[in-house]
Amino acid sequence: MGKIFYGLKKYEDAVEKLTESIHLFKTLKPTPEYAKAFYYLGLSQIQDSNFIAAKISINKAATISKSLEIKENEDLISLQTAIINRATNNIEEATTLFNNIIIKPESPNNLYTKAEALYQMGLIEKQNNRNNLALNYFNKALNLNAKNQNLDQKSNILLAISQVYDKMLDKSNAYSFLKSHLNLKESIAISNNKKLGINDYEAFKENQKKLALARLEKKKKEQERDENFSRLINYLSIALITILSLWCFCLYKNNNIKKKTNLLLQEKNKELRIAKEIAEKASNARAEFLSTVSHELRTPLNAINGITHLLLEEKPKQSQLHYLSSLQYSGNYLTAFINDILDINKIDSNKIELEKINFDLRKLLNDIKNSLSEVATKNRNEFILDFDNQIPNNLIGDPIRLSQIFMNLINNALKFTKNGKVSIVAQLLSLENQIATISFEIKDTGIGIPEEKLESVFESFSQGSTEINRKYGGTGLGLTIVKKLLHLLDSKIHVKSIVGVGSTFSFNLALKVAKDQMELKPEKEITFDLSKIKGKNILVVEDNKINQMITKRMLENRDINCEVIDNGEEAIEAIKNNKYDLVLMDVQLPGINGTIATQEVRKFDSKTPIIAMTAISLNENREMLLSFGMNDVIAKPFIPNDFYLMLTKFLS
Ligand code: ADP
Repeated sequence: MGKIFYGLKKYEDAVEKLTESIHLFKTLKPTPEYAKAFYYLGLSQIQDSNFIAAKISINKAATISKSLEIKENEDLISLQTAIINRATNNIEEATTLFNNIIIKPESPNNLYTKAEALYQMGLIEKQNNRNNLALNYFNKALNLNAKNQNLDQKSNILLAISQVYDKMLDKSNAYSFLKSHLNLKESIAISNNKKLGINDYEAFKENQKKLALARLEKKKKEQERDENFSRLINYLSIALITILSLWCFCLYKNNNIKKKTNLLLQEKNKELRIAKEIAEKASNARAEFLSTVSHELRTPLNAINGITHLLLEEKPKQSQLHYLSSLQYSGNYLTAFINDILDINKIDSNKIELEKINFDLRKLLNDIKNSLSEVATKNRNEFILDFDNQIPNNLIGDPIRLSQIFMNLINNALKFTKNGKVSIVAQLLSLENQIATISFEIKDTGIGIPEEKLESVFESFSQGSTEINRKYGGTGLGLTIVKKLLHLLDSKIHVKSIVGVGSTFSFNLALKVAKDQMELKPEKEITFDLSKIKGKNILVVEDNKINQMITKRMLENRDINCEVIDNGEEAIEAIKNNKYDLVLMDVQLPGINGTIATQEVRKFDSKTPIIAMTAISLNENREMLLSFGMNDVIAKPFIPNDFYLMLTKFLS
């Protein structure tokens, strides 16, 4: 740019651009271009007549060229230095420098400088009015110029010659050279116009302006874009704030709804809790009611059963025998019924605690089979037990509840089958992690159950039909108890039956296997040897007069001495002061009850067997009674045979 401006003779602009350029060059390693920049700056400053600055610039160009060892520019630089010297009236130094150039041998590269030096010398001579010397220099310069073809230089020389002739008053030559000079000047101007001229410069300036405008426009657009962007950000922020506010509002609303719902739920929960408590109270009341009713029924029932038994023992007439048998049957039925009701009541009130004791399943089933063999023979049924030998004999469970299940099912099978076959099948399904899974089947070839009744037989009081009840008896509670007990044992009963062909009741049980092999004590066979209990002394603690009479009579009938006391306190005293072989202790007594009395007795007498007589209620059970120090329990109303068996067990 600086060079272009220089070429266009726009020296001020040239100085500006070259200074800028030098400023940038300073940051780089020195190059010939750096030297040139100073050189052209010097030239431009010379043209602007700023010779002091020009001198500095040209010197700088000389130093850089020297450091870069550039030889070509040497003449040009010393030429310019000489020109500056001439302009600043250092004529002597200028002359020396010009002459140094002039005397150099002519070569194609130094034609311009040599011509220029000659021209400059001519000017010095012209100034000194040594016109001929001046003309001499100018002509020599013109000769060399003819070889380098620098038209500007030629034009300057022609003008200088014309001026010298003018001084010498040679008007003709002066005119002729001036004309040549002017012609040349004109042709230079024309050719310059063809190349780069003032118009180009203006166009360039215009272009610069346009560029500046474009930059301004761009900046404006960027500014606009920034503004748009910040506007967009603003909109987005507003939208975001709105959404957040809405969200907060929704949360607040939601929270309110939640609070309300929670309150509602709490209220409903409270209502439900109250309803549950009421239901529980009602259920408890029902259970208590059933327990009390059955307990209260047991006492008179004991009297009915006991007296019937006593009457039957007293050799009644044939006609009376029939009535007494019916009475015994009814009494027994009622006893069984009450026992079943009590059992269901206990299961429903969660009062049954399953025992976890070692037992031998094979023995249990065999015992049941033996105890029911009489029923089987009566109905002329083949009765078999098919027991899988793989089943471990040391299982853990509740043998009493299992017996109850089997008794009910086998009893039914034997009851509803005549001249057929009843089989109990026990099969080991798996034995893993000390758990034996066993499948049980009670099969019969009896009357069967109609398909539509299959589901309902497990419901309370559901008997196949009224005829069945009349013909076969039963309470309609047995299967209900079985189902409920199996549920307690995490099992389920299934039934398959075809009318006239037979029925099969089946269920699986998972029973734990005891780690130690069970020691199977051969149970002492209790024989019904009444001779062994003859003459023994028994204390009966009982407040009910009828029961006192029945028990006393039943004992005396077997030649047992019997003393009766009707309250606990006196009983304790009597045991303290007398020697009894056995005490029969009623549980429900006026004053201190049988359990407390037993506890007191055990403080001074641990040997005398005490047997509880109880019409077992909801909150009484064998374990509870034994925990007070009783030796065994006999449930009222007692079956005479069981009663005598119990006495034999403790007295013999
Ligand atoms: P029940 O005391 O009447 O035997 P269950 O609850 O034990 O009461 O039985 C209910 C009813 O199911 C019986 O009345 C009978 O109709 C039917 N049932 C039960 N077991 C058998 C069976 N093995 N064969 C035929 N019917 C049976």
